[in-house]
Amino acid sequence: LVASQNHSVDMLRITELRLPLDHAEGAVRAAIVSRLGLQDTDLHAFTVFKRSHDARKKTAIVLIYTVDCELAAEALQVDVLQRFAADPHVRPTPDTGYHFVGHAPVDFHAEGRLRPLVVGFGPCGIFAALILAQMGLRPIVLERGKEVRQRTKDTWGLWRQGVLNPESNVQFGEGGAGTFSDGKLWSQISDPRHLTRKVLTEFVKAGAPEEILYVAKPHIGTFRLVGMVEKMRADIEALGGEIRFEQHVSDVRIEGPEGARHIRGVTLASGEQIRADHVVLALGHSARDTFTMLHERGVFMEAKPFSIGYRIEHPQGVIDRARFGPHAGNPILGAADYKLVHHASNGRAVYSFCMCPGGTVVAATSEPNRVVTNGMSQYSRNERNANAGIVVGITPQDYRQDGKADGPVSPLDGMAFQRLWESRAYELGEGGYMAPGALVGDFIKRQRSSALGSVEPSYKPGVHLTDLAQKGRGSLPDYCLDAIREALPAFERQIKGFSMPDAVLTGVETRTSSPLRITRGRDFQSLNVQGLYPAGEGAGYAGGIMSAGVDGIEVAEALGAAVLGVPPVD
Ligand code: FAD
Repeated sequence: LVASQNHSVDMLRITELRLPLDHAEGAVRAAIVSRLGLQDTDLHAFTVFKRSHDARKKTAIVLIYTVDCELAAEALQVDVLQRFAADPHVRPTPDTGYHFVGHAPVDFHAEGRLRPLVVGFGPCGIFAALILAQMGLRPIVLERGKEVRQRTKDTWGLWRQGVLNPESNVQFGEGGAGTFSDGKLWSQISDPRHLTRKVLTEFVKAGAPEEILYVAKPHIGTFRLVGMVEKMRADIEALGGEIRFEQHVSDVRIEGPEGARHIRGVTLASGEQIRADHVVLALGHSARDTFTMLHERGVFMEAKPFSIGYRIEHPQGVIDRARFGPHAGNPILGAADYKLVHHASNGRAVYSFCMCPGGTVVAATSEPNRVVTNGMSQYSRNERNANAGIVVGITPQDYRQDGKADGPVSPLDGMAFQRLWESRAYELGEGGYMAPGALVGDFIKRQRSSALGSVEPSYKPGVHLTDLAQKGRGSLPDYCLDAIREALPAFERQIKGFSMPDAVLTGVETRTSSPLRITRGRDFQSLNVQGLYPAGEGAGYAGGIMSAGVDGIEVAEALGAAVLGVPPVD
């Protein structure tokens, strides 16, 4: 059952085709024929476009298919569409192919035209550069970190030896923040132009498993991502793009009077200057020095809300049994995930974030003497523990540094707030990038943890057990501690075992999204600097690999349309 990448518009799409989890191989075909009231010979072929499951009834888990069908004759198709005219689940298959806004003529660069720059080679920068390259615009990518194999060694250097390279780590380097991750690829963005399909299709071309095209919650895992990133780099280069590593953009050249300011190029940390009239800023949420520089240069930005909290680890079996009951371990279902929200009595929302089934908690700092947690997994998701962020929503008013109760907040205050808790976590972990941790049972009872129970935490270089809520030196603000303490037993009502006393909390999770937004207009350009295209997670326009990739595509389209003088996407 392989999903087709280029559906013919002459196909029919059936949604909500429900079959039992353990259905026989031919059952999908039989269900289609029966649903459409046809003979078996009327169905020429079909492909599965999406497959999800409904596990609300654990003893009767159901698979839900979206299928595209090719009927044996056009007349049959017309007949079916007439008969099902009032049924929203039987429709012509939409065109999900990708359409470029334009292409550069072959001699476009012959007159010494300046090439577009893309700063950052995470998912957003990769897709921005790929689309620009596919349009014939030969982008130059500037990435502060190293190429992915070298970067992998540096990242493991922190995890294994406690040695951080501030320019080459989980956040910085080829592939961006998503490279050492669970590689979850779903997103809740509205996608009328099927751009998520373009992202998935390019990932498959680069070596991702084909199933990501049709499973409802696709994921790739770390090892595969590494190879895919290299392949996408090669594709961009083959199209005339250029990708330069260890090129830290440390300044921007902006010219023109107030109200008509325009980007004219960038300066690298080496002192080299590169001229450009179009620059995509795909920086990610951890480029704190670059945010500061842009703020000093007067690029418009504003504070935005984000979330902070801990990682929680349970045995994966506990989650599988709670979610799938007797079907726990079924290979079609895979390792179970969860999504939880609790509205605490102090007004705070507590929710699970970036859940990684069968994965590990990782050290994700990019700054010396600070501790940040996140999660990753391999494609197999077969590590012992499930982990997820348990985070509390905060607003700019929470992290203002001037002690006043209201009034404007500096766009950079959120970064200072993150740094405060990341430094505190380093201290509570007692150095060496050990993370402070506590057992859930102790945390709820407000006591120090001194010995692990049945859950072995996976964070490396290691977890230092402590009291995460000690007076005057708590690992998070009191309102977060209170909200999480209240949420854990509430989550137990949805997932049996969630507040098991031996589950482990590890802190702190501070980089859930960007603390600021580099605001742009409808033309995708900075509000006050023409030619500058803030993009992806760092600019506050994405939260995850998929949405960052889609944003990269949209920004590249806007830039491409401006350069080529063609109408932008409506
Ligand atoms: P980034 O990926 O952060 O890329 C930004 C790039 O810009 C970096 O490579 C950086 O080095 C570079 N850069 C920054 N400043 C400069 C400069 N001045 N000069 C040159 N280059 C610069 N999301 C999911 O959807 N699914 C997951 O499973 C998932 N798991 C994750 C696990 C971990 C451990 C982490 C850290 C993140 C995870 N995420 C996951 C989040 C996801 O990685 C990000 O949302 C995504 O990478 C954002 O893409 P981006 O391109 O906007 O930014």
